[in-house]
Amino acid sequence: MGGTETTVEPVPAESAIAAATACPRCSEPCGDLPAVSTTRFGELGLRRCQRCGSRYTAGDPPARVVACENCGIASIEQGKSGTTTCEVCSAAAESTYSDDGVALATETEVLSALDREVETVTSETLAAYLDRVARLVADQMQDAPQSPRVVIVDNGSFETLALPSGTLLISRGMLATLQDEAELVFMLAHELAHVATGAAAGSLVRLSLGQVTRRAESDDDGWILAAMDLIRLGHGTPAEHEADTLALDTLLALEYDPQSALRFLRRIERRIDDGGSEAQEYALAHPPPRDRARRLERALARAAESDSPPRVNRDVFRRAAGTQALESSLTRVRGLGDAFSPPEAADTSGPDMRRLVWSAVGIFVLTGLILAAGWILAR
Ligand SMILES: [Zn+2]
Ligand SMILES: [Zn+2]
Ligand SMILES: [Zn+2]
Repeated sequence: MGGTETTVEPVPAESAIAAATACPRCSEPCGDLPAVSTTRFGELGLRRCQRCGSRYTAGDPPARVVACENCGIASIEQGKSGTTTCEVCSAAAESTYSDDGVALATETEVLSALDREVETVTSETLAAYLDRVARLVADQMQDAPQSPRVVIVDNGSFETLALPSGTLLISRGMLATLQDEAELVFMLAHELAHVATGAAAGSLVRLSLGQVTRRAESDDDGWILAAMDLIRLGHGTPAEHEADTLALDTLLALEYDPQSALRFLRRIERRIDDGGSEAQEYALAHPPPRDRARRLERALARAAESDSPPRVNRDVFRRAAGTQALESSLTRVRGLGDAFSPPEAADTSGPDMRRLVWSAVGIFVLTGLILAAGWILAR
């Protein structure tokens, strides 16, 4: 993730493309963050206007990027509708990547590739604490994975990646920006919501099949590049807002202070406004924190007043995951540590699962060929 990979030819996070002065959609200046390069959009860096939330390529002329209505993957907008259907969904191949077995097999391949590339950090106390809070959140959320686990990636940027089995990769920088347990609950609940709604599985499989198909001869790179693209592109604005709503519901149900979610979002907003490079990928992957906070405020105004005093558990959080804990008690681990084992929901390590995911790749290639043939015939 981010700057920690060692051997994969990196897609530079910072594009050399000069900062655009105004958003093509709302014409307002759109902040100082440089464009972020992704594998999916090649050399074209992408940026997100922090005023209207639209994403666009840094090319000339800029093209607007919107989430596929079906799978949430970022695609160039067709026409002026503000919606689009990506190349795979328009060929109606959705069933290929909404299959649970394919999702878990894909996750195993991605974890196995990441295990060779990333460095993680851990401490017994922190790991136990994070897993306990993640389980608390998962128990409260419908369709959430039963045994979520949190892996801390040794990276100072704000990065999060939710995998279909409930493994959450969270960067050290992301953890360091949290100030209490309620904020942690909101952040973990947002990620677990992506798992519960199926967005995590859909996006991962969809991006992986695309990358691996393109890079069949160097397959490991494809899995990692897909994971990195997912970190940088997110799940699309509707899915991100849906995850926020579910996270807020969880916060309220567990009787945490919902204002913590707003404090967390405003802190991120300030880092983006200040042009902090640690926030650039997060700023591209998620709708503007200002919009997210405004939506949560409206939802809170609608929510019935709770009788019980909201809690933030600041002291518990500080002892387990505060600045001192992050600075003094972490040990470095090569790879994903204990997190690298097949997801529990299925045995995905055997040759059958390998065959399954590679046959999905085959179907994906076939879909591409059919699409290309259709395109040629239509001309
Ligand atoms: Zn704009
Ligand atoms: Zn799609
Ligand atoms: Zn998200």
